[in-house]
Amino acid sequence: MKPAPFIRHAPKALDEALKILAEVAPQDGRVLAGGQSLVPIMAFRLAKPAHLVDINEVAGLDKIASDGKTLSIGACVRHAAFHKSVTGNPLGKLLNVVARHIAHYPIRMRGTFCGSLAHADPASEWCLVAATLDAMLVARSTRGERTIAARQFFSGIMSTALAEDELLVETRLPLLANDARFGFNEFSRRAGDFAMAASLVTYRLHGGKITDAHVGLGGAEPSPRRIAEAEAVLNRQAPADTAFRAAAEAAAKAIDPLEDHQTNAEYRRDLVRAVVRRALESSTS
Ligand SMILES: Cc1cc2nc3c(=O)[nH]c(=O)nc-3n(C[C@H](O)[C@H](O)[C@H](O)COP(=O)(O)OP(=O)(O)OC[C@H]3O[C@@H](n4cnc5c(N)ncnc54)[C@H](O)[C@@H]3O)c2cc1C
Repeated sequence: MKPAPFIRHAPKALDEALKILAEVAPQDGRVLAGGQSLVPIMAFRLAKPAHLVDINEVAGLDKIASDGKTLSIGACVRHAAFHKSVTGNPLGKLLNVVARHIAHYPIRMRGTFCGSLAHADPASEWCLVAATLDAMLVARSTRGERTIAARQFFSGIMSTALAEDELLVETRLPLLANDARFGFNEFSRRAGDFAMAASLVTYRLHGGKITDAHVGLGGAEPSPRRIAEAEAVLNRQAPADTAFRAAAEAAAKAIDPLEDHQTNAEYRRDLVRAVVRRALESSTS
């Protein structure tokens, strides 16, 4: 099928983009970033936006920058930007490891980091990164700017705190401590498919014991989130098999699993148990 008719707007400046978005949002006007989720949905006529505000030519949205505390990722930064490490901080390596799991090469060349967050697929790797690392998301409209914490941003399956006239202009990820360890694991039926469960973990060691554990889980519930029960099990323990298995068990118990045509709740809990344990086992600095 082909998309329903629409008008494409191609602003060159952010203020112009926000003004157009404010005008067309009430008529189901949408932002077009990489188009890797929106265009297929339009082709199936599951969405029929009358207007697209194409942000690809807006100056300044393709920047990655760091102020020494956070890494700022602009709205037009593609997944492929992370094929190499974008910062000497351990966060650069983390993003590089995760990026390889997103879809396929051509999709990574067009799809954007912020577009993934705005789309909020429960299985999105970048949504998991944002939730695990407590990202701050910067939304702008003609009404002004606000910063939204990741835990308040994701509000369900493909549902976020963004208002219809708001553009996610930037995501800020906290830089990791230089001695931080991280591990990532996901399960999908075929390489490049969306994950059926995924986990990202980060922690530090103090006197040989885990501190500041972050255990993130994606693909298992409507939105990715940190699992406090698993983090509590890990903190003050040695990074070893006993603690890793106990944390994985705690995560499997804590979730309210999604069920779909591929999985029931019991199977999803098993996947969660596996991906959390594997993420912890693979954790390195
Ligand atoms: C075959 C296939 C496999 C895929 N596999 C994966 C996968 O394994 N993991 C994964 O995470 N993703 C996967 N994707 C999705 C891909 O990563 C998309 O790039 C991503 O979901 C959306 O980013 P985008 O820039 O393409 O957004 P678009 O498709 O342009 O937009 C998606 C939605 O977000 C809104 N939007 C986009 N940017 C903004 C913004 N800055 N502010 C406000 N709203 C905005 C749009 O209006 C739209 O509603 C896959 C896609 C395909 C086609």
